[in-house]
Amino acid sequence: MTLDNTSFALPVARTVESLRNVVSRWRQDGESVALVPTMGALHRGHLALVEKARANSDRVVVSIFVNPAQFAAHEDFGDYPRTEREDIEKLKPLGVDLIYGPAASEMYEPDFSTSIVVGGVSEGLCTVTRPHFFGGVALVVAKLLLQCLPDIAIFGEKDYQQLLVIRRMVRDLNIPVEILSGPTEREKDGLAISSRNVYLSGQERARAVEISRTLKEIVVAVERGGDIRSALAAGEARLKKAGFDPVDYLEVCDAVTLEPLTDLTCDARVLGAAHLGQTRLIDNFPISSAGSRRNPDV
Ligand code: AMP
Repeated sequence: MTLDNTSFALPVARTVESLRNVVSRWRQDGESVALVPTMGALHRGHLALVEKARANSDRVVVSIFVNPAQFAAHEDFGDYPRTEREDIEKLKPLGVDLIYGPAASEMYEPDFSTSIVVGGVSEGLCTVTRPHFFGGVALVVAKLLLQCLPDIAIFGEKDYQQLLVIRRMVRDLNIPVEILSGPTEREKDGLAISSRNVYLSGQERARAVEISRTLKEIVVAVERGGDIRSALAAGEARLKKAGFDPVDYLEVCDAVTLEPLTDLTCDARVLGAAHLGQTRLIDNFPISSAGSRRNPDV
């Protein structure tokens, strides 16, 4: 069994077998299990999900795996920050029971040949410029869920389309797990925390906050009854002026189906993705339809 519990003082399972051995012992004792999937380079956003896992189950597994299947050839798989030792130090005080850190060869056989296609919510938004992405995410999340078989798994609203894709996959494939979500953790100025923020130069970091400010401005305009198309056009102009290029998308969508909206007919979400230098930033905020002009008589 590959279970490394000496060097880190927090056990790390490197194989599916060792993960399953530990989890099945917990199961025999009647304990519930939560899984928090991550790609490492852990920050406050990840740790908040771990705390939620801790509060909702007897045992907590955090997976750390930079998933090659969700990167296109030209993307940053090679450069993605890998900081496992520091990650484990951050997890120690949070009462995590097990790290699951498989090698790519443990996850994907050389002749691996299965794919998962989630329709509906995976269409549009990130898929337009990253068509490979949700197939890769669905695959690795399905594998992690089936390897660990947790009672709950926790994902961040920071990646809102991803969260909905995972919920849809779990429902459609009857994977026996409850998906919980956690709100987006932000820096003091409002920038959504991301492992990729380390790519930003000092100057870019100062401008990066414009993406959250722009999305917030759209929320305020639309909740006040402003025209969605005009709010989005003003938002795109603001991002371009701040140096974002290209703006992959800026859309107001139905919060459940992710259909683009031109009128606020239901609870919605504004979602944006844009590049600042070499870094692609994404963010989103909820838009409440309560009191919108949908109910002009109220
Ligand atoms: P990643 O390591 O980027 O794949 O993210 C692992 C999990 O952490 C995903 O469920 C993300 O949505 C979540 N996450 C990433 N950034 C944040 C954040 N700023 N706040 C809350 N959750 C986050």
